[in-house]
Amino acid sequence: MDYWSNTTDDLIDAMKSNGLRRGYVVTDAATGRVRSSHPVFESLAKAIAEDSRDYKRHEGSFFEIGAESDHLLSAHVHWTKRGQAAGGVRYWLYDTVEGFVRDGLRLSRGMGQKNALAGLWWGGGKGVVARRKGKSHTDPAVRRAVYRDYGRFMTTLRGCYITAEDAGTTPDDMAILFTMTRHTTCIPESLGGSGNPSVLTATGVVVAMEAALDHLGKGSLEGKTVVMQGLGNVAYHMVGDLLARRVGKIVGAEIDKAMLDRVKKKYADAPLDARLVGREDVSIFSEPGDVFAPNAVGAVLNPTTVPMIRAGVVCGAANNQLADPRRDAKALHERGVLYVPDFLANRMGIVNAANEQYGRFDGDPTIYAHLDKATPYGIYRRAAEIFARAKKSGRTPAEEAGDLADELSQELHPIWGHRGQQIIDYLVKNGWERGATDPK
Ligand code: NAD
Repeated sequence: MDYWSNTTDDLIDAMKSNGLRRGYVVTDAATGRVRSSHPVFESLAKAIAEDSRDYKRHEGSFFEIGAESDHLLSAHVHWTKRGQAAGGVRYWLYDTVEGFVRDGLRLSRGMGQKNALAGLWWGGGKGVVARRKGKSHTDPAVRRAVYRDYGRFMTTLRGCYITAEDAGTTPDDMAILFTMTRHTTCIPESLGGSGNPSVLTATGVVVAMEAALDHLGKGSLEGKTVVMQGLGNVAYHMVGDLLARRVGKIVGAEIDKAMLDRVKKKYADAPLDARLVGREDVSIFSEPGDVFAPNAVGAVLNPTTVPMIRAGVVCGAANNQLADPRRDAKALHERGVLYVPDFLANRMGIVNAANEQYGRFDGDPTIYAHLDKATPYGIYRRAAEIFARAKKSGRTPAEEAGDLADELSQELHPIWGHRGQQIIDYLVKNGWERGATDPK
């Protein structure tokens, strides 16, 4: 039976009727063969093995029906040579198993690339939980069950993947998850976690803008016009950073009146021209400016919007800005727009949380080094390196950033080596799918 194009609820039913709670699809490290734990997962293994867009020899994808929530939970591990797979868990609505699995594969690879470019000793990982028909994702009892289940699931995976907050997951959810596992970051500050990353993310994006302008010989941000889509948490702080660098003007569009009012109130006397727009309104893309910052949601750079852009640089906080990475990066390049890959510019979210287990203090130099223009792996110098490579090769910065990230992903963790793969091998060999490896 082919479950790839079925709904996630259908997969749950199939697992149950076969007496399964769990399943996996892994890539055999020696042979590269993709294999599954059970015939129910064979169609997934086949579709994954044949895919060349989102699957890049991921080490493994694990699935479980949450005992308390009855939701389909998943964890996707890209590569772990640099360290344990790390990335957030998303609680989202998916039409099909394909959409659900593809999100996990694509996002875990994206996290691996972001972590590698940032010089973090992490691999790439992502958690995805599918919303369930008939169970409201806003019901606190449902959420509590989902995140308790996800925490238990993390514990059974024994640290090959370390989770974090992501779209659809809140700080309260993370506090619940943390009651069930130690394999997480992004726990609330009151419990010793790293707290809100938006301030640092904003500064990181602004440093990336400076690198882009410098590369183009356009000098500093002083007097420049920055156009923004979305005036949410990151953008709110970004406006402050930009004003501190004496930008000439900021033009913004936001769909949520409360968010718009908040930023307008805070910067009432600033050269900020911010307006309320409808969700489908893309007029902000055609605003003239020096830098366009996608600060709202993903997939906003596409064949409709790219031709509208009038800024020489695109650099923003949103994840996965390119609807089709290859096509849209090329389209920007051909229009003479310098695109700063999102996973390079917005790394400070993960940097902020990455080492929270090693202690937290204000002004931590390990974190601020990423914003320092002299740091070799910092945002500024990495961006300059990628732009230089792209100039030399004629390829897009997105392609060069991806290749550099893949090269860096091959570096072995200096202490722990390829431990994530060792953990996966242990789970697979000893019957994780039957619960045989679960910590007692
Ligand atoms: P947020 O939800 O606070 O802000 C996004 C804003 O965009 C919201 O106010 C929303 O109303 C607005 N928006 C949505 N669709 C829009 C549209 N079509 N036109 C105009 N405005 C629209 O999120 P955030 O924390 O500010 O993050 C912004 C982006 O950066 C997200 O894509 C997020 O995944 C990414 N990101 C954030 C961090 C972080 O530290 N918060 C780190 C890395 C990446």
